[in-house]
Amino acid sequence: MAVSTFKRGLKLPARKQATEGKSVELVPVLPQVVIPINQHFGAPNEPLVNVGDHVTRGQKIADAVTPGPLTAPVHASVSGTVKKIEPRLQQNNTGGICIIIETDPAEAAGQAFMPPLDPWTCTREEALERIRDAGIIGMGGAGFPVHVKLNPPPGKTVDLIIADGAECEPYLTTDEAVMTEKPHLLITGLAIVMRITGVRRAIIGMEDNKASLAPMIEREIRLNDSGLDISIGLCRTRYPQGGEKMLIKALADREVPSGGLPMDVHCIVQNVGTLVAIAEAFTLGKPLIDRDLTVSGGACKTPKNIRAPIGAMITDFPPEFMDIDEGNLKKIIFGGPMMGNAVASAAIPIQKNTSGIILMTKAETLADAEGTCIRCGRCIRNCSCRLSPVSMNIALESGDMDEAIRAGLPDCIECGSCSYVCPARIKLVQRFRVGKQRLQAVKAQAAGKREAAAPGKV
Ligand code: SF4
Ligand code: SF4
Repeated sequence: MAVSTFKRGLKLPARKQATEGKSVELVPVLPQVVIPINQHFGAPNEPLVNVGDHVTRGQKIADAVTPGPLTAPVHASVSGTVKKIEPRLQQNNTGGICIIIETDPAEAAGQAFMPPLDPWTCTREEALERIRDAGIIGMGGAGFPVHVKLNPPPGKTVDLIIADGAECEPYLTTDEAVMTEKPHLLITGLAIVMRITGVRRAIIGMEDNKASLAPMIEREIRLNDSGLDISIGLCRTRYPQGGEKMLIKALADREVPSGGLPMDVHCIVQNVGTLVAIAEAFTLGKPLIDRDLTVSGGACKTPKNIRAPIGAMITDFPPEFMDIDEGNLKKIIFGGPMMGNAVASAAIPIQKNTSGIILMTKAETLADAEGTCIRCGRCIRNCSCRLSPVSMNIALESGDMDEAIRAGLPDCIECGSCSYVCPARIKLVQRFRVGKQRLQAVKAQAAGKREAAAPGKV
């Protein structure tokens, strides 16, 4: 099988040995879950329950008050009693309203799922509604509501679906576990997405370090017997191969234009875990209430792939299930070490898009102290998006947002490659994240002013 890739990128130490090939272990019943009501990109949710209410696993507990496309409800991941509704620290290091449910172990088997829905006979609108009602967002990235991604606006055509199983971040082995343990659900989810979008061709993209999974997935494709053109695309193991733009370039040889989306080159990319969640929303009526993730790193004595209810915190895990070497714990990262967020505490809930929790020792982290830029150009040579990180950084430091935009800030995928190679250890990607948030805020403010001046025309 041919192996494709994209230009530039990094060869990173994989650090996956601790969890590679390990089966997914179910998290034991926990005393509580802390469920953030806003885990998606879009209009904010409001709680639908009150303190003291009894809730059942799968019951909707938060949704948008204003109906709109960019919404995704949140469901109870355990049965129990709502103890508090209050702001808690989340993986993005901001406080957000969470619903805290005290688990009732006697009701562990109870569930309030939706009735199953036949994806092959329901209408396209019913299928999109089911995906929204299940609260499914992209589980590998920014949490964009999936029903929106599967519904291209007029004028946009899609001819290729890419299932993203590249998993290029060090340490993470979640997608590999999903592809190993649930290939039938992966293919079912992919076929559902193809039916909704009317697309006949799909490629399951994975790095060549997972090539041994290909025969098993190919067997599932044959068993599915849907007549759809689904194939496997192997990519060179190279960071950030799992980025949408890189995967599209590698597998379809198409370039997403500056400021554009995969749809602009007729592609939709979905993480493999998201496709499994889609399949379960139809076959079981199950909302997105749990997810597989990797917990690893040198300060984790029991590295493993786990299935955890949304809202679980590793600080609530029994020590025989998860043993943390507190004395050597230097840094906690939610997500992968390159694109994830460093957080101040392990007592932060797992969200729908938490692909891993990495507990790092000092030896695993990069030096903290920033030096001075020596104009070596390494960040430019290694940027997979062909941007000039050094210029963006100078512009942001001097508060010149226009210049930062000209240098490519909106096209930065926050892969962290520039920070990784910078000999001065300048926190480039952290600055770009903050810069992009500021840019979003400015845009939102401008849209608000336009809306005020001419209601309904924004
Ligand atoms: S500028 Fe952005 S896209 Fe380029 S290497 Fe840095 S983080 Fe990645
Ligand atoms: S890699 Fe670091 S030191 Fe080198 S040019 Fe870029 S910012 Fe400056």
